[in-house]
Amino acid sequence: MKVVVIGAGVVGSLILRELSRYDLELTIIEKNLDVGWGVTKANSAILHAGYDDPVGSNRAKFCAKGNEMYTQLSEELDFEIKRIGSYVVAFSDEEKKVIEELYEQGKINGVPNLEIHDRTTLLEKEPNLSKDVKCGLWAPTAGITEPWMVAIAAIENAVSNGARVVLNERVIGFEKKGTRIIKVITDKNSYETDLVINAAGLFADQIAILAEAEYVPLHPRRGEYILLDKKVGSTVRSIIFPTPTKTSKGILVLPTIDGGLLLGPTAVDLPSDMKNEFKTTVEGLTQIKSFTKQLVPSLDFSQTVKTFCGLRPESPQKDFFIGASARVENFINVMAMRSPGLTAAPAIAKYVSQEIIQDELGLKLSEKKDFNPFRKGIKKIVELPLEQWQELVKKDPAAGRLVCYCNEVTESEIVEAIRRGARTLDGVKFRTRAMFGRCQGGFCSIKIMKILERELKTDMSQIAMKSPGSWIVDGKVRE
Ligand SMILES: Cc1cc2nc3c(=O)[nH]c(=O)nc-3n(C[C@H](O)[C@H](O)[C@H](O)COP(=O)(O)OP(=O)(O)OC[C@H]3O[C@@H](n4cnc5c(N)ncnc54)[C@H](O)[C@@H]3O)c2cc1C
Repeated sequence: MKVVVIGAGVVGSLILRELSRYDLELTIIEKNLDVGWGVTKANSAILHAGYDDPVGSNRAKFCAKGNEMYTQLSEELDFEIKRIGSYVVAFSDEEKKVIEELYEQGKINGVPNLEIHDRTTLLEKEPNLSKDVKCGLWAPTAGITEPWMVAIAAIENAVSNGARVVLNERVIGFEKKGTRIIKVITDKNSYETDLVINAAGLFADQIAILAEAEYVPLHPRRGEYILLDKKVGSTVRSIIFPTPTKTSKGILVLPTIDGGLLLGPTAVDLPSDMKNEFKTTVEGLTQIKSFTKQLVPSLDFSQTVKTFCGLRPESPQKDFFIGASARVENFINVMAMRSPGLTAAPAIAKYVSQEIIQDELGLKLSEKKDFNPFRKGIKKIVELPLEQWQELVKKDPAAGRLVCYCNEVTESEIVEAIRRGARTLDGVKFRTRAMFGRCQGGFCSIKIMKILERELKTDMSQIAMKSPGSWIVDGKVRE
């Protein structure tokens, strides 16, 4: 059976990987030059515990389960997670009441080990919090990860189990026979299929419309962020949420997986024709500064490394829209993946493969005998014991050449990233963390371009930052 997944974000990639357990001809089609560059690229990167999703919602159904699955998933696919726990903090009696409600809701949603901590305990664990804090809801299962790395790792593992990845092709239509899709049409090719899974992120409503299937309208909900340098990365140890409002989890303070400090996101609804609007705004950044200062007064914004913006695929229902179409017999929607979509994704992938494809659609899938659940990440060379590093340098001198000083990335890691599919500066950045540090590529991007030029046997003027056309240099100034 041929299956086409549309969209290689964290959701599509994990579905592909889950399906690669079975004897299927799998293809994933992604319009970008790399995987994980949609909504998956810019978010808070939190593995939410699951206490704040309304009881009975799809969000509640998949969040705590997905959170739990990340332990095994990260071991199998060799990406980093840190279960640093989260606090929702209250500053008034009213907020305390909300926290108590969240505690009860969390228990119903199956969130383990929730506790309400008093001011003393809270300030012992988080001494930089505002002294005005009253109490906090502690969720030890909450954690952080690198969302794009989850997608990269899942895709690499699916490919090693036989799946095909098609990049730089946009799905523009479908060929149908009655109510069945027989081909997925892209701007460059067409792909025969027996089953289509729509995981196209912010654009999943447009894909469903092209297929004449059910959909919920999606609009972008802007979330802006400020990233602070590693120097101040330990200002907080866990994820600090304010008490949520009816519309948002609020603006938070949290460590990033590589030791920085992330502040944000804002929450501003944009019209549906602004799905490519990634600008940050003065109002947004000002709001982040004033809100986070109330939580952690000592925050030092002079340590800002970058600001950025992510767009949530928001729907009127404010819930995931997942299911087999009743109008198109071989089409499955996995859309409206707002937060906690990253956390829920592994559980959703299992649900799609077992409950939708096998139980509801009645398609019997046979498990491969040789499925390999494991994938190895790119080894962080500076973390090797010195003798091992020295041995490696004897065999591969590139392992001894540091290219990114901020995040200590060697040339051999960059070459390995290119070998695994990086074709752009961002491709290298998301696979190795080079250019992710304090200088944001100011010192190392030219060196990385030269390595890309050499390894891809191309000309420097052909190397893009991200998408085709985002060239960095135009040609030689002099010969
Ligand atoms: C500000 C913000 C904060 C968030 N914080 C968290 C958090 O802390 N924890 C959490 O659990 N969740 C969080 N989320 C939600 C989480 O990021 C998303 O649920 C998740 O990344 C969605 O992944 P996806 O694969 O559905 O979408 P995407 O990553 O957008 O993937 C869809 C892919 O489809 C591709 N595509 C679209 N149209 C086409 C086409 N026509 N042809 C081919 N390809 C196409 C896109 O290029 C894209 O790569 C947050 C989201 C935002 C924006």
